[in-house]
Amino acid sequence: MIYEQIFHMVNVGIVILDVDLKVVKWNKWMEIHSNISCDIIAGKSIFDFYPNLDTKWFNRSCKSVFSFGNTAFLTHKLYKTIFPFKPVSSFVTIFDNMCQDCIVGPLRNEDKTIEYLYLMVSDVTKMASYEKKLLDMGSKDGLTNIYNRKYFETKLEEEIERSNRYKNKFSLIIFDIDFFKKVNDKYGHLAGDYILKTFAKIVSKLLRSSDIFARYGGEEFCCILPETPNELAVIIAERIRKEIEKTLFEYKKDTKIRITVSQGVSTINKNITTKTDIINLADKALYKAKSRGRNQVVTAQTYL
Ligand code: GH3
Ligand code: MG
Ligand code: MG
Repeated sequence: MIYEQIFHMVNVGIVILDVDLKVVKWNKWMEIHSNISCDIIAGKSIFDFYPNLDTKWFNRSCKSVFSFGNTAFLTHKLYKTIFPFKPVSSFVTIFDNMCQDCIVGPLRNEDKTIEYLYLMVSDVTKMASYEKKLLDMGSKDGLTNIYNRKYFETKLEEEIERSNRYKNKFSLIIFDIDFFKKVNDKYGHLAGDYILKTFAKIVSKLLRSSDIFARYGGEEFCCILPETPNELAVIIAERIRKEIEKTLFEYKKDTKIRITVSQGVSTINKNITTKTDIINLADKALYKAKSRGRNQVVTAQTYL
């Protein structure tokens, strides 16, 4: 058929399945990205080649195409992958797999009965990458690539709300690098920037992925530790303090710099109802750490 050429030319993947979900057609796009030729896959169940597709959700979607003739989106958000293909765009470093938009729908016979369904797969990796970059730009700090203050404050409000509702504890640490002005004065602003970036990397490694670590401004950082009682937050803060104290920041081969950090810790309790309350408490503790000689962790619990 002359029109069949289009089936192979289009820049989307098209798969036709029968009622047993066996492959009837597999277009060129699918061949190229899957490395499986139509001759090999035709007549076989799609699950023989893509066992991960054999889910309740996928089977239900296909069944409803045959029963009701409806069309369904198999991907409701970007970043999703239906067929695990390698990305082809220049955004390979962001995603391991090609992000795909996938639609499933009926192919009707002349008498309107449905014997086959189609799956249509588009590569949306580029769009997903742009979306991710935009999201990051809004929530990340440009220098250190950790979260920015705006994102931190939004998350802190959410955490307080959750804590008011479910009574779960969380803690907050505020960090302030000691005598940072002197570092800039002695080694230059670029060395200072290098320290801020490296500091963020070191601390991130010592935190859990559920912790929200952010640059609060200048040489001040803060971290929300969900589900963390005060004693544990102090242990974590102390671990960070020690790690920073022993690190030799190697800005250049012959420029090795040492810094220390002071930290204030506060933990949610019944007297705290706003984000300002918990920040102020940690701030007070931080101030104590500074006035007691710096390079130490002070917890606000001692004031309560
Ligand atoms: P303290 O122990 O009391 O915290 O002393 P400090 O010198 O760290 O405190 P101060 O607040 O006086 O100085 C903070 C310094 O941080 C001043 C500012 O130049 C520097 N700083 C803030 N943001 C940046 C930045 O993005 N890059 C660099 N290199 N320096 C920064
Ligand atoms: Mg400061
Ligand atoms: Mg400081």
